[in-house]
Amino acid sequence: AGWITEFVTTVEGGRTEVAASGKHADRFGGQLVLVTGAGSGIGRATAFAFAEAGARVVAVDRDAESAARTAELARLVGAPDAWAEAVDVSDGQAMEKLAEKVATEYGVVDVLVNNAGIGLSGSFLDTTPEDWKKVLDVNLWGVIHGCRLFGRQMAERGQGGHIVNTASAAAFQPSKVLPAYSTSKAAVLMLSECLRAELAGQGIGVTAICPGLVNTNITSTARFTGVDAEEEKRLRQRSARLYGLRNYPPEKVADAIIDAVVQDRAVVPVTPEARGVHLMSRFLPGA
Ligand code: NAD
Repeated sequence: AGWITEFVTTVEGGRTEVAASGKHADRFGGQLVLVTGAGSGIGRATAFAFAEAGARVVAVDRDAESAARTAELARLVGAPDAWAEAVDVSDGQAMEKLAEKVATEYGVVDVLVNNAGIGLSGSFLDTTPEDWKKVLDVNLWGVIHGCRLFGRQMAERGQGGHIVNTASAAAFQPSKVLPAYSTSKAAVLMLSECLRAELAGQGIGVTAICPGLVNTNITSTARFTGVDAEEEKRLRQRSARLYGLRNYPPEKVADAIIDAVVQDRAVVPVTPEARGVHLMSRFLPGA
């Protein structure tokens, strides 16, 4: 959905016309979709994609301003309603309050996208317990809170639903530079598969989305704590050399998320290198 980038650029530039792609037009008409980490990158693109498909959207981010901006833009893209909620997904009590508020004010969520995540790099032995906790609190506990709270609401309502958790190609690939991040994503992959098995009989699908390197803030030097500019350049060049992926856009991940919900898929490696790593990890143990 390159049109979304174009649209946002246009809006940021002060004009508001937009030509929607129409690919999923009204596919999610009337449904309630909640996306965490919706203030930026993949989460924002996903909120837009569901908005374009007619969903009512709740954009959750710990950054209030960017969540509000996403909701504002989602309305322009076509969401009949879009709201912003400033919540830190790692805070269990705040997530409980969010779940209650959403159920009371907007209804039971039909599609939940647990996407909020943070990057952290550094060798295993150099990663402090505080850093491990920081990453696991957001990347793992944030997903657990979302699945427990909104999954229960879906199950109690008894009309199905879908949960998408953003894992990563890092979930299949041992790494010397991203041990805490990779571990958190491997856990998200497994919990997604466990929850999928548990909820299968209730018409509730669960997907683990696994992108490789995508062009967002998380992969910029500023956010990728510990990766210096040289290392980032090296990683990007390697990725570009191997897969021609210098600029994989978040909108394509959003499209893959929508397709995964529509087709009820379990594990979706998105980018070409993620697909390669996934195949290797499944069929060539030790590769
Ligand atoms: P991003 O940094 O552009 O967006 C992440 C958003 O999450 C930000 O708006 C941030 O404020 C929000 N966030 C962070 N911690 C939060 C918290 N505790 N509570 C609520 N919101 C929080 O990064 P992105 O690339 O769009 O990342 C989205 C997801 O995709 C993450 O889970 C990330 O690990 C995953 N992912 C990204 C890539 C990539 O290459 N960009 C690859 C694989 C997986």
